[in-house]
Amino acid sequence: MKFIDEFRDADMAKAVLCQIHRQSKRHVRLMEFCGGHTVTIMKHGIRQLLPETIEMLSGPGCPVCVTANADLDKAIALARQPDVIITTFGDMLRVPGSRSSLQKTRADGADIRVVYSTIDALQIARENPAKAVIFIGIGFETTAPTIAASIMKAEEDGINNYYVLSLHKLCPPVIKALLDSGEVKLDGLICPGHVSTIIGSRPWEFAASDYGIACVVTGFEPLDVLQSVDMLVNQLEQGKPRVEIAYRRGVTTEGNLRAQELMNIVFEPSPASWRGMGSVPQSGLRLRKEYERFDAEQAFDIDPGPTLEHKGCICGDILRGVKTPPDCKLFRTSCTPEHPVGPCMVSSEGSCASYYHYGTV
Ligand code: SF4
Repeated sequence: MKFIDEFRDADMAKAVLCQIHRQSKRHVRLMEFCGGHTVTIMKHGIRQLLPETIEMLSGPGCPVCVTANADLDKAIALARQPDVIITTFGDMLRVPGSRSSLQKTRADGADIRVVYSTIDALQIARENPAKAVIFIGIGFETTAPTIAASIMKAEEDGINNYYVLSLHKLCPPVIKALLDSGEVKLDGLICPGHVSTIIGSRPWEFAASDYGIACVVTGFEPLDVLQSVDMLVNQLEQGKPRVEIAYRRGVTTEGNLRAQELMNIVFEPSPASWRGMGSVPQSGLRLRKEYERFDAEQAFDIDPGPTLEHKGCICGDILRGVKTPPDCKLFRTSCTPEHPVGPCMVSSEGSCASYYHYGTV
């Protein structure tokens, strides 16, 4: 298939669904890691179309949602520093930290600008040499290479007022932590498509070999997701869990070697705090010693204050797959996309926003 509408073809979807219903004999629990997949599943009613033998859970794959309040508080504290311009992707603005959000901090007078790429952030740094320009580095392996490239470019061009607050997260280590916790019993994993374009499918092999989890990397159209469910059920019914790629148009076993190289030049793995999971070893990226002068945390002496959690919000449980948005008492009542209490309602890829827009409860 070459064109996007082919990945939404109703007749083909019916054929794949029939096959899933035919071959699914035993109860299995499948998790879609990525918030993009959750949106596709909810938007196209895929859960309701699957046989009762297949239970679908949403995972922690929304970078905005998993950013811990303590890290959001750091971004807000940096924004309050004098002569600082914060640059960030738009999704981050409305995410509430312990006591405020970047949006409210901007309303209070801080210079916070939404950018579409780090190229824009670098340009702002060039145009404002008397200010410190800090980019809030949020995202998975998909965005980290571009941020690494921006740091290398800043060094090459002698831009001395550009900094990054590195809050990046790595996906395979958090899946390992989730499996090690034993809190959620999984049979299969729909692995993230965009992340895997960078890292390849190989980093997921531990899940199949060490934990017996069936893994399929797939894309974000309805037929991509159905195909991945079909392949997962096939693996599980055969009793042969392994890693397969249903997203050949974007993903290889090795991934994007140049992007990995950029990431490795600038960053090294470090512990990272995940909402709902706490500190997960080797699941973050910090700047290597050679680049630490670009590290906003080292360059600025900030006091973000004590961390507070949002009362009643169960985003952490939802991100671990142990609860769903309708389990939250605030869902659709005091928490809505217009007035979000937690990050899972803010982000377009958040589970709560997906259930709000496309769910039946
Ligand atoms: Fe948090 Fe709102 Fe989701 Fe409840 S509905 S878990 S308060 S984001």
